[in-house]
Amino acid sequence: MATNRTATAKWKNLVKEARALALEQGQTRCPRCRTGLDWEYSLRPNSAEVDHVIPHSQGGADTLANTRILCRKCNQELGGMLNRRKPRPVVETVTLEASPIW
Ligand SMILES: [Zn+2]
Repeated sequence: MATNRTATAKWKNLVKEARALALEQGQTRCPRCRTGLDWEYSLRPNSAEVDHVIPHSQGGADTLANTRILCRKCNQELGGMLNRRKPRPVVETVTLEASPIW
């Protein structure tokens, strides 16, 4: 249930391919915020990270064509936006008196 999709071998391979391709193409900047990408070190705000163009949750595939390189900061911002878009659990506050259980 709580399988981390990004940890699969397939995704790791894809990340490698996407990074290699972007480096080959000479990508040095984040396409979203134009910051200079850090290809050497991870977990920095400007570290190059592989992102889904179409998010997995919206039917995007784990293919090279559906990946792009963003800086870590943008990747996380986009991820956060996606999370916020998820429907929140509905909290029932007005139906208690109508419930047959009570
Ligand atoms: Zn960026």
